[in-house]
Amino acid sequence: MRIGIGYDLHRLEAGRELILGGVRIPHETGLVGHSDGDALLHAITDALLGALALGDIGSHFPDTDAAYKDADSADLLIAVRRLVQSSGYRIVNVDSVVIAERPRLRGYIDTMRRRIAECLEAPFDAVSVKAKTNETVGPEGRGEAISTQAIVLLEVADRSVSGL
Ligand code: MG
Repeated sequence: MRIGIGYDLHRLEAGRELILGGVRIPHETGLVGHSDGDALLHAITDALLGALALGDIGSHFPDTDAAYKDADSADLLIAVRRLVQSSGYRIVNVDSVVIAERPRLRGYIDTMRRRIAECLEAPFDAVSVKAKTNETVGPEGRGEAISTQAIVLLEVADRSVSGL
């Protein structure tokens, strides 16, 4: 088995759509990024790459590359999930945290879990998303940014390619 961790933070600005966990969430500000700014999918993507020691999202999808301008982060996650599978691994489970003062995300959690599970070809109950505020302090607490954390566990599915 292999474990991986991911972290991300994006600034919130007016005039951007808020997309988290592949889900559009109505809010007066959205996450700034070269891609769609989906910090939750980015943390999960980084956790998958980390588990395989294959670098990070920036090395696979550079933000200097026009191809990834306004990219749908779900497409990046799906590409990395395919890399996990072709490396001989399967996803056991994913746990994650979104730190956002506003909007309150409780009503969107299961929609995000469903969307992430779909991208990962994993069962719904293998994907956990938890939302927290930052008690009004720090950039997340002041509504200047949203940060995310994710951890994934992989197990060998195909020994002939996993190298383990
Ligand atoms: Mg990011």
